[in-house]
Amino acid sequence: MTDSRRSYFLYRLIWTSLDFLFPPNCGGCGKPGSRWCAECQQNIVLISKPYCTVCGNPIRTNANVCRDCQIDRPCFRVLRSWSVFETPIRNALHRLKYRQDIGLGDALAVQFSGFVSSLKWPIDTIVPVPLGQKRLNERGYNQVGLIARPLSLSMNLTYAPNVLSRERDTRSQVGLTKLERHKNVRGAFIAKRSRVNNHVVLLVDDVATTGSTLSSCAEALYAAGAQDVFAVTVARALAHHSLV
Ligand SMILES: [Zn+2]
Ligand SMILES: [Zn+2]
Repeated sequence: MTDSRRSYFLYRLIWTSLDFLFPPNCGGCGKPGSRWCAECQQNIVLISKPYCTVCGNPIRTNANVCRDCQIDRPCFRVLRSWSVFETPIRNALHRLKYRQDIGLGDALAVQFSGFVSSLKWPIDTIVPVPLGQKRLNERGYNQVGLIARPLSLSMNLTYAPNVLSRERDTRSQVGLTKLERHKNVRGAFIAKRSRVNNHVVLLVDDVATTGSTLSSCAEALYAAGAQDVFAVTVARALAHHSLV
């Protein structure tokens, strides 16, 4: 067993022991017994084909690339999301965001890593989308890191949490149109060259809507010398649920 495999094995062993001592509740449905139950795992609505080969949004047409990406191609190479942003994954992400449930982050990462591995991308470094300084001060932690860190451990990839930073605090993207979202985050990020130069980066976020934030992050990573930038999110907020 390599050192990194061994440390991940120990990390998981600690969580399993803690669960034995202090039985947790499921982050999706609240049922006691596990951090993420088999039923919630079963109830996840996965994003299925057909979807845009660039931004991963479900599409109705036979085109490979959606209209939005044809008009204004995002900066990342590809974005894929694991599931639709609805119950039970929405409850779990909410709990990560407001209750700093590190154990739930680990439990979700175990499942999420299967999805990320199946994409077979040649990535070497994992970078979480950062919070603005103001929000980080209020919350005290970045919820994306609660999944991205154990994800990097399980996939044996470098975890680089401080590579990206927000140049300015942006307003919440909630309620903004696609164009407004784009403008809101354009040029909002900066990346450290020394950490990403010539690396193939996997950007990780909890939820994507239009992908504008991830595109803006990817732009900063390329500007700092990244060789390639792929992106994944745990969930995708869809405007038209009938599409899936
Ligand atoms: Zn559950
Ligand atoms: Zn697209």
